[in-house]
Amino acid sequence: MSQKGVEKPLEEYEKVRCPICMEHPHQAILLLCSSHDKGCRPYICDTGRNHSNCFSMFRNTRKKLLCPLCRGKVHDWTVDARAQHFMNHKTRTCANGTCTFSGSYMDLEHHVRMVHPSDVGPSGSDGPVSENVWMDLENYLNQLNLSHR
Ligand SMILES: [Zn+2]
Ligand SMILES: [Zn+2]
Ligand SMILES: [Zn+2]
Repeated sequence: MSQKGVEKPLEEYEKVRCPICMEHPHQAILLLCSSHDKGCRPYICDTGRNHSNCFSMFRNTRKKLLCPLCRGKVHDWTVDARAQHFMNHKTRTCANGTCTFSGSYMDLEHHVRMVHPSDVGPSGSDGPVSENVWMDLENYLNQLNLSHR
């Protein structure tokens, strides 16, 4: 008994970008925001500490979580296994500053272990994530919107 129309088309995942790092989210989790019913689907990376874990950064910077897409309240999050599986095969660049390596989640796992074994935590920040990181991020996103060609 196949349920046609229930499964989401894969092209939808194709277009998904993590709102934090602007790449294909790896180990993506889906934030359940107040606009979920209206189709808002903010996927965000929830990778290990050796990669840019956008979700932990997102969570640490704000007490009240707001959806990065619609600014609605985020009340929960969930794992969409199908989305995760699909997006883990998407390539993205290494989160390590100047590194130009790119690959799938598996490739990156291997790469980070081999090439950046000592780099733990988000690149460029030493110490706990602060509100400043979030401000930088918002500025960054604004700039992206402005300079979008
Ligand atoms: Zn991300
Ligand atoms: Zn939303
Ligand atoms: Zn690298």
